[in-house]
Order: sequence, then C-alpha cells, then structure tokens
Amino acid sequence: MKREGILFVISAPSGAGKTTLCKEVIDIFPNLRHSVSYTTRPARPGEVHGRDYYFVPIAEFKRMVAAEEFAEWAEVHGNYYGTALKTLEEYRKCGIDVILDIDCQGAHQLKRRYHGAVYLFVLPPSFQELRRRLDCRSSDAPEVIERRIEAAADEIKESRWYDYIIVNDVFSKAVEELKSVLIAEQCKTHRVLEGVSQLFEI
Ligand code: 5GP
Repeated sequence: MKREGILFVISAPSGAGKTTLCKEVIDIFPNLRHSVSYTTRPARPGEVHGRDYYFVPIAEFKRMVAAEEFAEWAEVHGNYYGTALKTLEEYRKCGIDVILDIDCQGAHQLKRRYHGAVYLFVLPPSFQELRRRLDCRSSDAPEVIERRIEAAADEIKESRWYDYIIVNDVFSKAVEELKSVLIAEQCKTHRVLEGVSQLFEI
C-alpha cells in the first residue's frame, strides 16, 4: 500500500526523556526512522556523527541556512540545530515515517510548511523530577543544566498547541502512549484510503 511518509514532530524540555522514548519506538516500528539533525554543538561522549547528529562547524551551518537547505532550524541553548529539507522530502516520498526530535521553534516552522505532520509534546511529571533527571545525566556542566531548567518553563507553555501530550512519568506507560499515537495516525482514513480504494472500489 503506497502512501506518503508521516512526519512525527516531538518536542519536550531537555530531561523529559524524549530521546530515549524516540529510540524505543524506532526499534519497534520497521517503517519508522529518526531524522538526524545538523548541529554546531560538540558531540557528547558516546555520540556518533551521522547517527545521533551531523556535527558541523558554524560556518558550514550558516552556509546551509543561506542555501535554504533546512526545512527548519533554530538556536537552542546557545547552539544551532537544523533539519535537512532533502532528507525529509526523500522519506516522505518513499512512504517512510520519520520522527523529528526538535525544539518548539523548529516545530512552529514545520507547522507552517507541513500541515499533515503530527505534533507531540513530552512532559516530565514535575519540575523537581526534571531537575533530578538533568542532574543525574551529568553530561552537561551545572550552568548548562540551570539554563535548560529556566528554558523548560517557557517550552512547557508551548505544549498547548501540539496534537498530543505524553507525560513521561512511568517510562513503559509513556512508550505505550507514543506507540498508540503512531498506530492511530498510521490508520487515519485519509492516509489509508488511497492505497485501498482500488482494491475495494471505495
Ligand atoms: P541536545 O543538545 O540535548 O541533543 O538537544 C537540545 C535541544 O535541541 C532539544 O530540545 C532537541 O529536541 C533540539 N533539537 C535537536 N535537533 C534539532 C533540530 O534539528 N531542530 C531544532 N529546531 N531543534 C533541534
């Protein structure tokens, strides 16, 4: 059955667990890929160029912005991040679904460009829990953690315009909720109809 790939745009404050959630469902859904973003931030220990991000110098990032090679891009916590337009379009045309783990500014830009995309927001159960998770991660300096907690309050306000909100309290429950959204969206009539209409003369 042929259909366009679906764009699942997921935002959350850092520490809400969105990256782990995304990895979990990518392992389960064979037709789902992670959109690998470009960033100017240095790689963290264990991160791999081309798998987690494309780590590029600022000059290269700015060249891509000027050449309009990004579907969206934003400055987040002092670094630049962007999604390549070409990759998104290729996935869409091939019928491959894509998860984009991006911030609210980027999600806003995509909302104007892709009306059929699905927007999900992941919330932590509380501010205290968010701080605890960021402290435990210990991969960022204390001042970076402080900046991220301050930004979280504003980011959380953005959740109201998203299509779905997932509260990541119990991880296994959050995974089930995310899986349910993906499956429900894949079954939406307008996505399936074209593929089945000839078979059943609908
Ligand atoms: P981190 O540096 O912790 O991997 O990501 C920091 C923030 O940047 C997260 O909120 C993440 O979702 C966001 N981000 C990652 N890639 C992109 C992107 O391509 N575009 C935008 N707008 N935000 C991104």
